[in-house]
Amino acid sequence: MTEDWKFERRRNRLVDDLREKGISDERVLAAVGRVPRHRFVEQAFLGRAYNDEALPIGLKQTISQPYTVAYQTQTLAPKRDERILEIGTGSGYQAAVLCEMGAKVYTVERMRGLFDKTAPLLRQLRYKASTRFGDGMQGWEAHAPYDGIIVTAGGIEIPDTLLQQLKMPEGTTPGGRMIIPVGPRHEQIMTYVMRLGENQFDSVEMEACRFVPLLSRTQS
Ligand code: SAH
Repeated sequence: MTEDWKFERRRNRLVDDLREKGISDERVLAAVGRVPRHRFVEQAFLGRAYNDEALPIGLKQTISQPYTVAYQTQTLAPKRDERILEIGTGSGYQAAVLCEMGAKVYTVERMRGLFDKTAPLLRQLRYKASTRFGDGMQGWEAHAPYDGIIVTAGGIEIPDTLLQQLKMPEGTTPGGRMIIPVGPRHEQIMTYVMRLGENQFDSVEMEACRFVPLLSRTQS
């Protein structure tokens, strides 16, 4: 279809743009180069689907900026077959990028309106992410522990329940890691956390960022 061809060209340009902005992991760039972001945005924003910008997806939520998605993914560095938990499914775009990298993706969304739209879309596009409607602050215990957790909404602190669902280190295998924006509503600091032991964690603060708020309790 001509339309697809047009989008493909724009998508390639977005990949070049991300590369220029410092994203260097070729696996991440290849994944961004494959996910049809135009399928994850509202019709009204179709023309802006491959701009490096966050866009509204309804219910006061946004699909994250591609740079942010690439940055979080590059930092998390998911390997093939690793179990990754995402908090905040939103449009499903980030989950699709993780699937393209071969991760086993589990994703939780607290807003019914978004969940009911996104879960079928991911299936339709053949992304095998496991989706759940619920409060992501509780993680997803049934599938824990995780090699990685990616939180795509900003909260004041790192939920302890999520820390506990990270894999413990074993022998020479390092423990699970998490990438999460931490801070008040208007600005957060992207934070990388590693599990070092039962109740031992290390964290590194990275770039400033701005996400929609991480809220507990579901909304129907
Ligand atoms: N990863 C998404 C970004 C969506 S914005 C994407 O690629 O499009 C963040 C999302 O987090 C919103 O959909 C919001 O409803 C959701 N969210 C906020 N707090 C949450 C919580 N406690 N549990 C699950 N989802 C949450």
